[in-house]
Amino acid sequence: MILHIDMDAYYASVEEREHPELKGRPLVVGGSASGRGVISAANYAARAYGVRSAMPTARALRLCPDLIVMPTRGGLYQRVSRQIRDIFQRYTPLIEPLSLDEAFLDVRGSEKLYGSSEEIGWRIKNEIREELNLIASVGVAPNKFLAKLASDQDKPDGFTIVKQDEIQEFLDPLPVERIWGIGKAAQSRLNQVGIKTVKELRSQTEERLQSTFGKSGAKLWALCHGIDNRPVVTDSESKSISHETTFDVDLKELATLESVALSLIEGVGYRLRESKLKARTINIKVRYHDFSTVTRSKTIDSPTDSTQEIWRVAKSLITELLGKSQFAVRLIGAGVSNFGQAVETREQSDLFDQIPNEKAEQSQTDNRQHRLDTLADQISRKYGRNTIRRGKTLSSD
Ligand SMILES: [Mg+2]
Repeated sequence: MILHIDMDAYYASVEEREHPELKGRPLVVGGSASGRGVISAANYAARAYGVRSAMPTARALRLCPDLIVMPTRGGLYQRVSRQIRDIFQRYTPLIEPLSLDEAFLDVRGSEKLYGSSEEIGWRIKNEIREELNLIASVGVAPNKFLAKLASDQDKPDGFTIVKQDEIQEFLDPLPVERIWGIGKAAQSRLNQVGIKTVKELRSQTEERLQSTFGKSGAKLWALCHGIDNRPVVTDSESKSISHETTFDVDLKELATLESVALSLIEGVGYRLRESKLKARTINIKVRYHDFSTVTRSKTIDSPTDSTQEIWRVAKSLITELLGKSQFAVRLIGAGVSNFGQAVETREQSDLFDQIPNEKAEQSQTDNRQHRLDTLADQISRKYGRNTIRRGKTLSSD
């Protein structure tokens, strides 16, 4: 079976844990309203007021004037993420992180040692609660698609198991938009023809879905029957690492979007270095208010794991995408791919491209950046505070 483990209101719960006197009060982590900040995470007391992550802080404060807004402490959340990962690793090396607070675990090989998948799920949930004083919601199911739905089913503090013979019973009542890959456009197309639940979608033949949805029709057919053969892929064997954020309202401020993108890239860089990987291609994804999606990529000569270097490229891609036009952005994603070695011609082209002084300067800069990242990671692990903050992050305003 596959486990999907998802921390409840992660950043906000970590801050609540660090500030027990604030327990139960509406609290968010995010940028300040005056700096046009965005909410990164909201605890459940704040959610009761309609406050959501990726909502502008100014709007959240209108909904809940007593809201406590805490600055984002990326280093702390990275350190705790590593502690959570350490607990996962007691039970399986097959861990696919989706973000700092969410991962798939393949525990099929661990059942002989530690008991059923359900027992392993409970052990992990309990250890996270006892050792880290945080709450995780757990989904246990035969595949990734179902495990993710299951962990979300009973949030917060959920534990949901979907056994092989309960799949259809579990899926059928769910609204179609819960299916992975069904966005707003597909949802309204389905609703128009009277299909609102998975059960109604399942009554369609595969041919019918293919004629409506083209290539993704087959995938849709499989998912609504609970079929998903995607394996759990660890960071070190994956082809890409990316994080993304969907906003509650369309955002137009370039500076805000940049600060969100930088915090995504800090997470991506951290995962690269944790997995001892370097990447050559940097990817940016933007979804506009009309749900059209564009991506831009850039490949650099030498693979890097430096947050600063990845950010430099990402920032130029963002400027390229958003710099000149009027835009309203619904989602932003940032990631890296193309792991591996430098291109073979690198030495040569470097020699011709750069005069010796520049080259020496460049490698000095690289070294400095590397030391900065290593130090930031060490500090994150040890003290959980990102003392060395880079230019512009959510918390800088
Ligand atoms: Mg979560």
